[in-house]
Formats: sequence, C-alpha cells, structure tokens
Amino acid sequence: MDPTPPRAGRPRLLLVGAGHAHLHLIRHRHRLEAADVTLVDPGSFWYSGRATGMLGAHHTAAEDRLDPTRLAAPFGVQALRGRLAHLDPEARIARLDDGRELDFSLLSLNLGSRTPCPARRTPGPLVWAVKPIPRLLALRHCLEQEFSRGLTPRLVVVGGGPSGVEVACQLRELARRHAARPEILLVTRGERLLEGAPAGAVRWLMRQLERREIRVRFGLNVTGHAAGGVTFATETNAWGEDSLQWLAADHVVHASGLAPPEVVERLGLPLIPGRGLAVEATLQSPGHPDIFAAGDCAAMLHHELPRLRIHGIRQAPVLLDNLAARLAGGPLTPYVPQRLALAILDLGAGQGLAIRGRRWWGGRLALAWKRRLDRRFLRQFRT
Ligand SMILES: Cc1cc2nc3c(=O)[nH]c(=O)nc-3n(C[C@H](O)[C@H](O)[C@H](O)COP(=O)(O)OP(=O)(O)OC[C@H]3O[C@@H](n4cnc5c(N)ncnc54)[C@H](O)[C@@H]3O)c2cc1C
Repeated sequence: MDPTPPRAGRPRLLLVGAGHAHLHLIRHRHRLEAADVTLVDPGSFWYSGRATGMLGAHHTAAEDRLDPTRLAAPFGVQALRGRLAHLDPEARIARLDDGRELDFSLLSLNLGSRTPCPARRTPGPLVWAVKPIPRLLALRHCLEQEFSRGLTPRLVVVGGGPSGVEVACQLRELARRHAARPEILLVTRGERLLEGAPAGAVRWLMRQLERREIRVRFGLNVTGHAAGGVTFATETNAWGEDSLQWLAADHVVHASGLAPPEVVERLGLPLIPGRGLAVEATLQSPGHPDIFAAGDCAAMLHHELPRLRIHGIRQAPVLLDNLAARLAGGPLTPYVPQRLALAILDLGAGQGLAIRGRRWWGGRLALAWKRRLDRRFLRQFRT
C-alpha cells in the first residue's frame, strides 16, 4: 500500500515499529487528534511473554501474535507494511527498504531489539536466535518433523538468562509431547544462571532443570559454529584464542542477550554504543525534539535499563503525553523507570518462577499468575 499524504495543513505523526508503546498509542489515538497518524511495520506484533510457550507447543502462533494493521484501522491510524531503512532527520524524511519515502512532522521509533549470534557454517548445526520471535516457531516446526521421524537431535541453548532457561525447558516440553528424549544442554559464560536473582531461586531452578534432564555448563563462551557443533572458549584455557574447544550440537539456539537493531546505525541520530538510540528522560532524541524513541531500541541517557517489555509498556503513556504536548505546544513529562521489575519464567510442565528484587516464588501459582498477566495484556489489543 502506498502512503497517503497527510491532509493539507495537518502534521503527520509517523510511528515506526509496532512495539508495545506504539500499540498503546494506537488505542489512544484520540489524544493525537491534531495529527494524521501513520504506522509502519513489516509484519506482526509477537508477544515475547508467550514466545517460549509457543516453542513448547503450549500456545499456537495465533495466540502469540497480533496484526497491527487490523488494530490500527478502527482507530483511524493508517498502517503500512514496510521496514525503515534510513532517515534524514533534518529533512524529516523516512526511507523504507523498498524505496518509499515518508515525510513526517513528528516521529516515534519503537523498533525492538535483536539477538546477536555468530554466523552459520556449512557443514554445521542449524542455528536459531530467540529474536525475531518467529524463529522460535520455525525451530518448533523443524524439531516436530525430526521427532516425528524418530530422530533425537542434540540441542544446545546458549545463554543463562531468563530466555535461555525458558527455551531449554520448553524444548524439553516440546520433546515430551512427541515422546522424544533429545539431549538438552544449556551453556552460559557466567558462573551461575539468572545473574542477580536470589540464590534460593537459582537453587530451586537448578533442581527443576535436573528433573527435566537439562544439563548446564558454566563459564563457557560460545564463539562460533563448526561441523557437527559449536566452538567455545573458557576463561581458564591457558592456550589463548587459537585453541578453541568444541561441543557437539545439531541445533544451537542463541539466547544470550538482546542488542539494538542494526537499522539504528543508519538513522543519523545520536546513539549510545551497544545500547541503542540515545533518548532524554522525555524520550526525545537529543537535539531532535520532534523525534522520540521507546522500548528496547531506546537507551536512556541517565539510566541503563535492562531490555524488558515493562519499560516499553510503562514508557507508552509518557510517550503519548509528550507527543500530544509537542502537537499542542505544552510542557513535556519525564519517564521515571521503576526500580524493580517482576519477571515470571515459564518453565513448562505447569511450573513458573516469579522474581521481583530479592523476592521469588516457584511453582504452579507463579505460572498461573503469568498466564493471567499475559492474557490481560493481549486482550486489550485483540479486535
Ligand atoms: C524469548 C524471549 C522471551 C522474553 N520474555 C520476556 C519476559 O517474560 N518479560 C519481559 O519483560 N521481557 C521479555 N523479553 C524481552 C522483550 O521481548 C523485549 O523487551 C520487548 O519485546 C521489547 O519490546 P519493544 O516494544 O521495544 O519492541 P518489540 O515488541 O520487539 O517490537 C518492535 C517492532 O518493531 C518492528 N521493527 C523492527 N525493525 C523495524 C524497521 N526497520 N522498520 C519498521 N519496523 C521495525 C518489529 O517488526 C516489531 O514489530 C523476552 C525476549 C525474548 C526474546
């Protein structure tokens, strides 16, 4: 679909990326009456809270995704399928990767993040990243085929944070549904899982992993892929980088942290290296008062936030207020991040692990709580 030019004399607010903050803006479009609003996104919104549950076949793809185009229409937001490739902030023009150009008066970027991962090698294991989330669906389909053919692939998950742990558990769940018993190995460069989590929660988690026959190896830095497996280095390896070690794998899933999307490098906007688009407390790009960013792609100048959807969700009302204020010429408000965030891991087999600061809770109730929060979030946007 080609972009419709804004009506004469009216400003255009361009929303790029259908992330959490922009979904909120669409629902509250009436607060942005003064502008024509256009959303650009290449596909669906995938909800990360259900992503690993989808891998484990507890959720269907339809339960994990929303169509931003369908959401936008009833609120009077023009939705375009497309991917931002470049920006000319001075001329206020956004260029999409198919060559289309969109001018804007106000711009908001909610582009998410990606999972960095070493290049695939042939011959070598199949390589998967947890983001973009549809990769997990492709992994599930691939494994379902292998399990149904009676194969028992060796599965290696890289990353000892919440998503690595969830992926390892949900791979076991998927295998269990198909009566398969593949080897599952979770590797982390750290000395423990879930850095920063209470020690009791980590001990409880280790018992859960043992029960699921998921092996864990610590202090192991995966550096690349090779025939039949992955290469890794350890801190204690006295021989240096020319003596990499090797680990057998048929599938490698990378879940070792999130990084800003590559496109942020091509936008001509201030960046914080490795963290994303620099933003003031008001979510404005420094020196560009009409350009805003929120969620994982944004890096606050005065706070280093973990990449959690709660920040995108909580930034949304501030973003809305500030865009409305720019349109009306009013004062802007700052986003003040909350100190603690609740994380609930879905470990499959009906078990969850909830952590907030030093408090934690493992078991069925934690998972029921997570499912309730996920349902409540998604229900707002189902049309
Ligand atoms: C497996 C997994 C599990 C997770 N679980 C949790 C959890 O339980 N709790 C939690 O808080 N966080 C979790 N996270 C982190 C969470 O996914 C992110 O913090 C969150 O999705 C970021 O949301 P966002 O609104 O910034 O962007 P997203 O929701 O990622 O949306 C970004 C949008 O921008 C679009 N886009 C990207 N590039 C372009 C472009 N060039 N042009 C146009 N559009 C573009 C994308 O298509 C996408 O629709 C998890 C992450 C993973 C990978």
